[in-house]
Amino acid sequence: MPLLVTGTIGIDTVHTPTAKAEKVSGGSCAYFAVAATFHHKPIRVVGAVGGDWPKEHATLLESIDGLCLEGLEQRAQSKTFAWGGRYFDNMNQRETLFTELGVLEEAPPEVPSSYADSRIIFLANSHPSVQLELLSKFPNRTLAVADTMDLWITIAHEELLTLFKEIDGLIINDSEALQLTNQSDPIVAAQELIKLGPTFVIVKKGEHGSVLVHPDGTLDLLAYSLEQSDVVDPTGAGDSFAGGFLGHLASCDVIDFNAMKEAMAWGTITASFTLQSFGLDGLVSTTKQQLDERFREFEDEG
Ligand code: AMP
Repeated sequence: MPLLVTGTIGIDTVHTPTAKAEKVSGGSCAYFAVAATFHHKPIRVVGAVGGDWPKEHATLLESIDGLCLEGLEQRAQSKTFAWGGRYFDNMNQRETLFTELGVLEEAPPEVPSSYADSRIIFLANSHPSVQLELLSKFPNRTLAVADTMDLWITIAHEELLTLFKEIDGLIINDSEALQLTNQSDPIVAAQELIKLGPTFVIVKKGEHGSVLVHPDGTLDLLAYSLEQSDVVDPTGAGDSFAGGFLGHLASCDVIDFNAMKEAMAWGTITASFTLQSFGLDGLVSTTKQQLDERFREFEDEG
């Protein structure tokens, strides 16, 4: 099933307790798309970057087999989305140091006509009105899933509530679920979020795993356990989880609770590689064979 993603293609600066990476390739759309190519091809990207987008970032994305960049607009006079964040000692929590919206403040990117038959749509983190506009172009979609973030929950709450009514699934992290519902228990928060529109909700709990709440059941899945010293940079792990999850579903004949349970495990394993390096390097340096081996190990342990 053709899979399309829209979101940010960004320039990230990340501080961890022991290291700093400046101007690395990131963005919600980039992490999702690269992660999803392990499971399904092609992955269609809709996004925009500015004239300051580093050449090596372009070369990196162009080198990924199965990534379709026809819908990536390069706007010479604009600025690329840029984000900076700092992780606290446990690497589980972070603060945003800056967000430069750049192209996100302009008109949304065009959708190429060759993408018209896309059936699975992932709305990675972006302004909810941009997410809504993209969705309106795919009335015949099979599945629409969205992510969001503290910034949009704060500054675009009404648009977000409108978006929730249009989507089938929502994938967010535990702090965002708490911010939206005032419920600290992820399962209760997911149940509250389902009342706002989506059919199923996934709440990611960082090193504590993730939960899926679906009309046919609930799954509480542990994370893949990495040595503390192997966790280099958690940025993009959530988007990589979503890429693994939806990439797997795009390859399934039937999308039901059983398929989603397996997709949760693929999301978990795909994200675990993102944690091991700064930027997209963790995903880019991983082979499908390494991914499959870790998946089997995870299944055997579970
Ligand atoms: P994650 O760690 O999965 O939450 O994703 C982090 C990625 O999202 C980084 O690569 C950022 O460039 C990007 N990002 C950060 N803030 C935003 C935002 N407000 N909207 C869209 N993307 C964002």
